[in-house]
Amino acid sequence: MKTQHFDLIIVGGGMVGASLACSLKKSPLKIAVIEAFEFNSKQQPSYDDRAIALAYGSQRIFEAMGLWQQLAPHSTAISDIHISDRGHFGVTRLSAQSENVAALGQVITAREIGKVLNQTLSRQDNLQLICPAKVTALTQYPDSVELVLDDEQHLSAKLIVAADGGHSTIRRLLGLGASQQDYHQTAITANITTEQAHQGRAFERFTDSGPLALLPMSDNRCSLVWTVSTGDEVDILNLSDHDFLTKLQDRFGYRLGKFTHVGQRHSYPLKLMQTDQAVQQRIVLIGNAAHNLHPIAGQGFNLGLRDVAALADVLVNADDCGTAQLLHDYQQWRQDDQDNVIQATDGLVKLFSNDNPLLGHLRGAGLAAIDALSPIKHLLAQKSMGLARKQPRLGRGISL
Ligand SMILES: Cc1cc2nc3c(=O)[nH]c(=O)nc-3n(C[C@H](O)[C@H](O)[C@H](O)COP(=O)(O)OP(=O)(O)OC[C@H]3O[C@@H](n4cnc5c(N)ncnc54)[C@H](O)[C@@H]3O)c2cc1C
Repeated sequence: MKTQHFDLIIVGGGMVGASLACSLKKSPLKIAVIEAFEFNSKQQPSYDDRAIALAYGSQRIFEAMGLWQQLAPHSTAISDIHISDRGHFGVTRLSAQSENVAALGQVITAREIGKVLNQTLSRQDNLQLICPAKVTALTQYPDSVELVLDDEQHLSAKLIVAADGGHSTIRRLLGLGASQQDYHQTAITANITTEQAHQGRAFERFTDSGPLALLPMSDNRCSLVWTVSTGDEVDILNLSDHDFLTKLQDRFGYRLGKFTHVGQRHSYPLKLMQTDQAVQQRIVLIGNAAHNLHPIAGQGFNLGLRDVAALADVLVNADDCGTAQLLHDYQQWRQDDQDNVIQATDGLVKLFSNDNPLLGHLRGAGLAAIDALSPIKHLLAQKSMGLARKQPRLGRGISL
């Protein structure tokens, strides 16, 4: 079979891979996206109903990509973040007003993000969508990489970007190791209707069985991410709506009045994974293929989108988009942010999933201290908005 040649092949058309393709829509690069599911399939796992808290920095990236106008009608602004620890004193509140921004972030479902990304991909001249298809073999040469697909198609490119998620086939084919840590926790997600209006407030509540987040959504619903010990989710998922809400109310309290309704529940096992090597000869791993995080601080996609913004910045005008120098520059740029977010997220999980009473008091004191110290609070807010470091052009609102 004849080999098709591209500059760039993105394996995985989920939130991160599709965002990269869209960010390069004006570049001269000839691009292919290979996705395991049919185009616009409701089954594509990246685009399910989970709510994604987009940091302010991610909103800016989407604005520069020209996609925010389409995403905005489906998003709910976060005006305040309220962080507390069940059973202990100490609360921290971050607010858009004190950070001088219109919103600390936005909440939107992965499904809506997927619709907008797919619409953009379908109109992109420099792009060929190859789906449903999976990569079965890969060979690296000094000037290109060749891929074989499950339908025997042969493709080659100067650069392969693996955005094929936590169980990345490309990572496996390359034989790359990864550090993995099973948290023995499972996230339960559902939409919750509350008696009182959320007024744009997001809540992060740490409990002795794991963290619990409520994010503001449209129609005065909140999106719940409730982390429980793996095994416990079975009983919780099987509770009647009434018993589920009673149990949840006991963990969360009455800051939003009574919980009145719960929608469909889903569960996700949680673990940390970081690849030992994100860059190899003419191949780079981004998004969940490179780092899969606990959703405790809502950082996974935000981090992946910052990978996208930096990679697009170095690729957009390159004659040869897969050189070792270019991939080295990308890696240097991203390493700190990736390491910091991974360590901070992992540290939070461990600190706040612990029922040691001494740690409980320290956490309470820590939250109270953060609340009292405005420079630290500002730094925390800047980090949660994804603004705390050198930004690529898309992150500064400049389109490519
Ligand atoms: C409960 C929960 C809540 C979350 N909340 C937030 C949040 O609030 N904020 C935030 O920033 N992040 C959040 N995240 C994290 C976020 O969902 C992920 O970071 C994001 O989905 C990663 O996107 P990705 O495209 O890298 O990977 P994926 O979403 O896994 O997409 C991978 C894509 O590759 C395709 N694929 C897989 N294998 C192959 C193959 N062999 N060939 C071709 N295609 C393939 C898949 O079909 C899929 O489309 C949350 C995660 C969970 C579980």
